[in-house]
Amino acid sequence: MDVYGLIGNPVEHSLSPPMHEAGYAERGIDARYVTFEPDPDALATALDGAAALGVRGLNVTIPFKQDMLAHVDPDPLAERIGAVNTVDFGPVLDGDGASEPDESASTPRGYNTDAAGVQRAFTHHDVDLAGADAVVVGAGGAGRAAAFALADAAADVHVANRTAAKAESLAAEVPGATGGGLDTLSAEVPAADVLVNATSVGMESDETPVPEELLHADMAVLDAVYTPIETRLLRAADAAGATTIDGAWMLLFQGVEAFEIWTDEPAPVEAMNAALRDRL
Ligand code: NAP
Repeated sequence: MDVYGLIGNPVEHSLSPPMHEAGYAERGIDARYVTFEPDPDALATALDGAAALGVRGLNVTIPFKQDMLAHVDPDPLAERIGAVNTVDFGPVLDGDGASEPDESASTPRGYNTDAAGVQRAFTHHDVDLAGADAVVVGAGGAGRAAAFALADAAADVHVANRTAAKAESLAAEVPGATGGGLDTLSAEVPAADVLVNATSVGMESDETPVPEELLHADMAVLDAVYTPIETRLLRAADAAGATTIDGAWMLLFQGVEAFEIWTDEPAPVEAMNAALRDRL
């Protein structure tokens, strides 16, 4: 039996175990997905232990996403984002699926599938990102992943953040992007085709980081927040006639991408989505 898991602290309320195990069941893969909650200063030991025990893959969440970068061989996107949310311990495969001798094979590989989560959530809703004017609200971990994901999909990106300096420094790293404070939303959102809320606003209280009167029918709005599943931002976007994409789609597709990295086969999206939505 293969073992996959999530490493973070805390992880007790994670929706990833049922989502991934539904995928294994659908594909007939003999595997379990478990949660690991090491002390925040024990990441290196935990990773060595996982490798020694034959764990095949790990998702990574708070507080380890940034620190994990130093312990893995990161792919270029994870390196640009500055965070790893998926670790693959499996053998390096050549084109025929055979194991390739590689001196770095003992170092687990690191990926950031939050970016794919953003891209695939939009694609799944038939939103074309190429050439789109995109606004990302937030410049933390999710904001960084969203900004690089949208720019890599050929969107023109503007980052707006409460702390303007963070948005400006992120924008300087993302090709063609601009950045500023939340006051820039009034100029950017009316012309936007795509909006991503990558702040935590909307989780603890019924608030939105984007003034509701700026939303319009010719846009698609993804809220990374998934608790609650229907945020105030999404309710307002729906009322304005926009396409709305809830945070569970991003969560689903970051998991789908990880499943595909680990197993090298297409993930059963429907089964994983059903298991996830069952628990929300
Ligand atoms: P983070 O790194 O801590 O960043 C938090 C962001 O929220 C920062 O941009 C911060 O602005 C902003 N913010 C916090 N409180 C605010 C307020 N009262 N007003 C305006 N802005 C505020 O967190 P993260 O990891 O990026 O996560 C952000 C959200 O995305 C969380 O709700 C998380 O659950 C969600 N998320 C969802 C997925 C998914 O798959 N659906 C994946 C990752 C994250 P400052 O820089 O000014 O502090």
